Amino acid sequence: MTQHESRRLQHPVVFRRLQVVEVHDLTPLMRRIVVGGPELEGFHSGAPDDHIKVFFPNPDGEYVTMKLGANGPEYPAGKTPSPMRDYTPRLFDAAAGTLAIDFVLHGDGPASTWAAQAKVGDAFAMGGPRGSFVPADDFDHYVLIGDETALPAIGRWLGEMPAGRKATVLIEVANAAEQQPLPTQADASVTWLFRDGLAPEKSELLENALDDLEIAGDAFWWIACESRRSRMMRKFLEGHRAVPKQWIRSTGYWKHDESVEDED
Ligand SMILES: Cc1cc2nc3c(=O)[nH]c(=O)nc-3n(C[C@H](O)[C@H](O)[C@H](O)COP(=O)(O)OP(=O)(O)OC[C@H]3O[C@@H](n4cnc5c(N)ncnc54)[C@H](O)[C@@H]3O)c2cc1C
Repeated sequence: MTQHESRRLQHPVVFRRLQVVEVHDLTPLMRRIVVGGPELEGFHSGAPDDHIKVFFPNPDGEYVTMKLGANGPEYPAGKTPSPMRDYTPRLFDAAAGTLAIDFVLHGDGPASTWAAQAKVGDAFAMGGPRGSFVPADDFDHYVLIGDETALPAIGRWLGEMPAGRKATVLIEVANAAEQQPLPTQADASVTWLFRDGLAPEKSELLENALDDLEIAGDAFWWIACESRRSRMMRKFLEGHRAVPKQWIRSTGYWKHDESVEDED
């Protein structure tokens, strides 16, 4: 079996205080928020599925972010920590000094609520990325599977793939209005799947499409969506398709309240 050596890179964790410089809607449920400021200097994101920690105002309306101490995260005494969530650094423009992050407006939670109300000039706090996963570039095929939360990473994967690379992409979104252009030089086949009213945690559109996929040669499989679904698709690949563990990267990008514990 060919090894296909993927790499994990570590980066020093940097916390940054920035400002919202642009807000625009890519689709009815996907809002791009562009942030900038002097502290963005030196930002680096090494791979498409990198993530940053984004901090949101605590119940007192304050941004209370952590410092990484010898014993892990430390917060100022007497302050309620800010909620934090994982987001994909979608587009970093070093020359312009801006970073775009695409937020799914799913309707609940500190991140989605903040994004729905965000305006130019708002404060923004983030940390990371602290690491990057760089898949081997010698697979015959790259299969990317995800829901709308994975779209920013999928957009990056496709945007960064060289000409001629074979990719198959399955994307599940709420409805046809959620499609967005995904420019690429790769030899990519992209299938959009629409839930059209079905709850994302109940949908099986990705699973059924995965079942129907025929991929020739050695493939790298990247999966990111609701936690239980992501785990089930990994199990399917390992159990029914005998895909080696190390050729699959599956992540729960969000967790439905009734989902059991996640892996990866
Ligand atoms: C590595 C990584 C990268 C990610 N990148 C992005 C990104 O670039 N853009 C992006 O939008 N998201 C991204 N996500 C997903 C995002 O972190 C989660 O959706 C997060 O839960 C949103 O936080 P919240 O405060 O809005 O909701 P939470 O407070 O976490 O949850 C509130 C409620 O909303 C539900 N919920 C959470 N997310 C969703 C959803 N997408 N659809 C339906 N219900 C949901 C929960 O089950 C819960 O009931 C990423 C996640 C990971 C792990």
